[in-house]
Amino acid sequence: MARLPTWCCTNIYKIDLNFLKENNIKYILTDLDNTLAPYNVPLPDEKTIEFFKELKKEGFEVIIVSNNTGKRVTAYSNMLEINCVSGAKKPFATTLRKYLLKNNINLDECVLIGDQMMTDILCANRLKIKCVLTEPLSKEESFVTFFNRKLDNYFRKKYNLNSVEKIDRGVGK
Ligand SMILES: [Mg+2]
Repeated sequence: MARLPTWCCTNIYKIDLNFLKENNIKYILTDLDNTLAPYNVPLPDEKTIEFFKELKKEGFEVIIVSNNTGKRVTAYSNMLEINCVSGAKKPFATTLRKYLLKNNINLDECVLIGDQMMTDILCANRLKIKCVLTEPLSKEESFVTFFNRKLDNYFRKKYNLNSVEKIDRGVGK
């Protein structure tokens, strides 16, 4: 069961920040496409900007970790004034591991948040860091992701997610 997420959540905006704090999380490594914003949204909107202000206020450091190209990821991250890893090649862990080591980031204090089992969750499990699987924000997909999504749905069914704790704000409290 190495490929199960640690936790599940409807989407990143609904995540229980206190729960993350209670679990000693200081670094939020988040996917971009369909986790923070749909593909066709080039820059952070008001909701995203406000959410990042809250994350900062609560003491989290956020790093965007995306397989997408530098141009999209850098423009998006710059506007939020946060660091990013583009071309991350998830599910491979090498690029992200190098970044975390170089920046002296303690793996035990990280959570990786993303919408895909086969990229985000597998990458996190390879790094042995905690992770949260979200639902994809948008049903509209790029050509490549259309196939990834089919695969993702297959793995969501294969690995029974019912046993995974849901950490939406206001759930279970
Ligand atoms: Mg994604």
